[in-house]
Amino acid sequence: MADIMRGLLVGRMQPIHEGHMDVIRRILGDVDEVIICIGSAQLSHSIKDPFTAGERTMMINKALTEHGIPASSYYITPIQDIACNSLWVAQVEMLTPPFEVVYSGNSLVQRLFLEADYKVTEPPLFNREIYSGTEVRRRMLVGEDWESLIPKSVIEVIKEIEGIPRLKHLSKKGT
Ligand code: NAD
Repeated sequence: MADIMRGLLVGRMQPIHEGHMDVIRRILGDVDEVIICIGSAQLSHSIKDPFTAGERTMMINKALTEHGIPASSYYITPIQDIACNSLWVAQVEMLTPPFEVVYSGNSLVQRLFLEADYKVTEPPLFNREIYSGTEVRRRMLVGEDWESLIPKSVIEVIKEIEGIPRLKHLSKKGT
């Protein structure tokens, strides 16, 4: 049997949206398996990072199932940030299955993996003005349509964990 090729995607996924789904589908068109790293796993309960790593795992898992992506083709791994950028690739390697290609639009992520001799690919951005975590969270706060930007199963998770009241509470002045 030929060697299995794996690609790695790192993102905070706060929350996972249709832009992330587009890039995951592209990666699975290139390689056999995708490793989805939940970046900044230690962060939650802030406006920029409202959801815990466990909640984000649930969202990603359900979104991939909804889109018919077989569980045998992906791994989901939370990765905490560390103070030393120069050691971060080793931290990722310690927590993930082996991989050959890194997919990222983030210049710091690209730089660190290039210096560690990985192949790095920048996937095209899919409608970035609306498919971004910042835009999804902004709409949640002001009561605009955020549901159309994310998979239906992720809407259900956000309702289950009462994500909108959490975000609105966190946005109150004095917190
Ligand atoms: P993100 O969720 O903004 O994006 C992840 C990736 O998804 C992007 O690189 C891009 O390829 C893709 N994407 C996003 N929107 C898209 C769209 N509309 N269409 C197509 N693709 C789209 O996450 P990020 O900020 O790049 O995450 C990097 C993570 O790595 C952070 O958690 C950061 O803290 C972590 N990090 C940590 C260290 C350290 O701890 N020292 C160092 C480097 C990076």
